[in-house]
Amino acid sequence: MIDLLKDITELTGVSGHEAKVRARLRDYVTPLVKSVRSDALGNLLAASGDAGGLKVLVAAHMDEVGIMARKIDDKGFVRFTTLGSLRPQVLLGQRVKFTSGLTGVIGAERLDDMKDLQLSHLYVDIGASSKQEALDAVRLGDTAAFQSTLEVRGEQIIAKALDDRIGCAIMIECMKRLPDRARAHNYCWAFTSQEEVGVRGAQVAAQGLAPDVAVVVDVTPSGDTPKGADSDVAFGGGATIKIYDTIPPLGGFVAPPGLTEFVRSVAIRNDIKWQADVLERGSTDAMSIHLTGSGVPCVVISVPTRYAHTPHEIVDRRDVEQVVRLVLAVLDEIDAAAIGRMFEI
Ligand SMILES: [Zn+2]
Repeated sequence: MIDLLKDITELTGVSGHEAKVRARLRDYVTPLVKSVRSDALGNLLAASGDAGGLKVLVAAHMDEVGIMARKIDDKGFVRFTTLGSLRPQVLLGQRVKFTSGLTGVIGAERLDDMKDLQLSHLYVDIGASSKQEALDAVRLGDTAAFQSTLEVRGEQIIAKALDDRIGCAIMIECMKRLPDRARAHNYCWAFTSQEEVGVRGAQVAAQGLAPDVAVVVDVTPSGDTPKGADSDVAFGGGATIKIYDTIPPLGGFVAPPGLTEFVRSVAIRNDIKWQADVLERGSTDAMSIHLTGSGVPCVVISVPTRYAHTPHEIVDRRDVEQVVRLVLAVLDEIDAAAIGRMFEI
C-alpha cells in the first residue's frame, strides 16, 4: 500500500482539479472491478459485485486542499485564493506545485506583527521577473497544492494529502481483500471530487446511485498533540467510528445510533481496535450523502490524523490496518436487517 500511497499523495489534485489523481486511481482500480466511469462532477465511480445485491456506496474523497491563482501583480507575483480550509500561517514559506508541474514558493509582505498575517498578504513566487513572464507560466484559475514527499518513519506515514488519499488507498485495499460474503453486494466505489469545498462530488454520486447504505472512509483529527484538538481520539488508538460532526453553519452528520451500535459490535466481534469520534469542527462526504434521495444510512470510519491540511500530515499504519479490517468486517456483516435497526438502541 505504501508505494500506491506515495504515488497518489504526491500528485497535485486540488478540489475540482482532480484529473491527475483520477487518471492514476483509474489505473489502479480497473483490474479490480467490472467497470469504471467518471461523472459530470469528476467523481471516479467503480462498480463491482452482484448487481442484484444490497446497493452499497463506499466513498473516499480524492481532492485535497490547495490554492488557486486569482491575480498576477506587476512584478510577476501570483496572488491566490484557497480551495478548502487553509490557514495563512500554514501556507507561509511552503513550496507548492501547480497542476502544470510548475514550482512556487509562498512569501508574505513584511508585517510589523505576524499576528496580523492574512491570506491577502501572501503571494506565490514562481521565479518570474515581470507580469508577462508570470502570465506565460500561470493562468488565472490554475491550482497548486503543497509539494512534499511521502516518508515512512517507523509505523508512521508522513505525507501531504493523506486527507483523503489514505481513504482512497484503503478502498483499493478493501477491493482486493473483500471477503466472499461481502462480494454479494452491488458496489459503487466512489473516489469523490470537491469534498474540501463543500462535499459536492459525493452528493451527486449518491443521488445518481440511491444506495441502500453508504460507508465513508476519511481522516479525523487526533486530540493528543500539545494543546491540539479538544478530542478523545487517540493517534494509534485504532479505527474511529463517527458519532457526530459539524461544520457550522454548513451542516454535518449525526450518525444513526442503531447503525453506530452495529458497527461497534462488528468491531468488538472481530477484535478490531476502535474508538468513538465526536468532532466539533469538520465533516466528511457523509454530510451530503445522508441527505440525498429519501435519505441514506451512513457509516463513517476514519483514520486518526495529525496536522491535517498541512504539507506533513501523519497517520499510523496500525490505525490504517484497523480501518481496512473494520470496513471489510462491516461490508461482510451488513444486511437489510442491520440497516432496518438503524434507529433502534
Ligand atoms: Zn477529508
